[in-house]
Amino acid sequence: MQVPIVLFWFRRDLRLTDNAGLYHALTSGFPVLPIFLYDEDILTQLSSKQDGRVQFIHGSVTALDTQLQELQSSLLVRYGKPLEVLEELVQQYAVQAVYANHDYEPAAMKRDQEIAAFLETKGIPMHTFKDQVIFEKNEIVKEDGTPYRVFGAYKKKWLATLSDASRASYPTARFQDHFLKTVPFRSLSLEEIGFEASQTVSFPASLVPEEIIKTYDQTRDLPFLAGTSRLGLHLRFGTVSVRQLVQQALQLNAVWLGELIWREFFMMILFHFPHVEHRPFHLEYEHMPWLNNEDHFARWCAGTTGYPLVDAGMRELNATGFMHNRVRMVAASFLVKHLLIDYRWGEAYFAQKLLDYDLAANNGNWQWCAGTGCDAAPYFRVFNPEAQTKKFDKQQEYIRKWVPEVGTASYPAPLVDHALARDRALKTYKAALSTA
Ligand code: FAD
Repeated sequence: MQVPIVLFWFRRDLRLTDNAGLYHALTSGFPVLPIFLYDEDILTQLSSKQDGRVQFIHGSVTALDTQLQELQSSLLVRYGKPLEVLEELVQQYAVQAVYANHDYEPAAMKRDQEIAAFLETKGIPMHTFKDQVIFEKNEIVKEDGTPYRVFGAYKKKWLATLSDASRASYPTARFQDHFLKTVPFRSLSLEEIGFEASQTVSFPASLVPEEIIKTYDQTRDLPFLAGTSRLGLHLRFGTVSVRQLVQQALQLNAVWLGELIWREFFMMILFHFPHVEHRPFHLEYEHMPWLNNEDHFARWCAGTTGYPLVDAGMRELNATGFMHNRVRMVAASFLVKHLLIDYRWGEAYFAQKLLDYDLAANNGNWQWCAGTGCDAAPYFRVFNPEAQTKKFDKQQEYIRKWVPEVGTASYPAPLVDHALARDRALKTYKAALSTA
């Protein structure tokens, strides 16, 4: 007879410690078989065979398996369509329940609904838990139960709702002998899932850089300094626990805590207003007469617009998969306002390149820069790249690092004149709003 077990399905929570869904699986009374599924539908959509995110996931999955083998268990890794893989697994094992953590992206929610419906036909419950945020769904809403649209008010309520319980960690380590004991499973190499390693990509550490965070409020806007945490990638794939980060943020720096709240704000917006994935939050911007000049877009992507701060940012992104937040804002604003290119083109380019890419954060920030989003910068605020340089990269340290030819004859002339482009943007936005 088969041993009754439960499955714990790792997704955006690639860690053994302080993991909500894993804790509930380990305390379910059944041995836990941990699984990870490389989702064929997602992986086959990626345009490059050298994708830093996939490489990061692969490394994290391998590390999880090593840790599990130290506990005489192993991570069962499969490649395919999640529903089909789970159909096979419930035939192979006496599965009593499937445990996982919530994922709030529309495609993931649809996937989970389909899987839960299938499991139900087999009499197997699917239990999912809040793990990647402190507050989710309807936990932070206005008095009348409707979602916030303004960050300041959301943040105030978030802070007022935060309690010791909401940031307490899950003591998974105490139950680690509840994993199913097994001989190691055969894992999958990067090549077996259709990818190859990039020699140039490097991943930041998963520890909070405490000394940096203590002065975050003073250094976060200076792109030439390592003044931010670089934890975006770890938050995205759950190789750190947000509860632990919030604990540290409370001790280290309130401004940095505010950034973690921005992250949850945009997740909440995507959850309550799923149309933002494809359309402006404010639908009156739906018919903006974007110019969408493909040559200009290619120059923006390549970092050859003739605006040094924009170009430095795009080159940093292309070379490393990271771009400093201040520069992300300037580069995004430039694409949308100076070049009048649909923010969704830029959003898609960032989605392809950013190691810390997250649908909710990327979309929310692009819409913020484009002026189409909730609580966005008003459309008449047009970042001036030169003024931003004077303020945040006065000595041009960041610019010279990424655009060494700046100031020489080989550096291109500006693609558009700032004053003219600003004027054109204001007129276009105003006209679009008045006819909406
Ligand atoms: P820190 O400054 O140390 O902040 C800590 C964490 O807080 C970040 O890792 C992130 O999880 C969160 N955070 C910080 N700022 C924001 C913000 N404005 N909105 C939401 N969360 C935030 N962030 C992403 O995580 N994924 C994206 O795809 C993404 N796309 C962006 C696109 C544009 C156009 C802009 C302007 C910003 C975008 N951001 C995105 C937000 C921000 O730029 C990054 O989170 C930050 O630069 C990552 O660096 P860090 O990890 O050192 O962050």
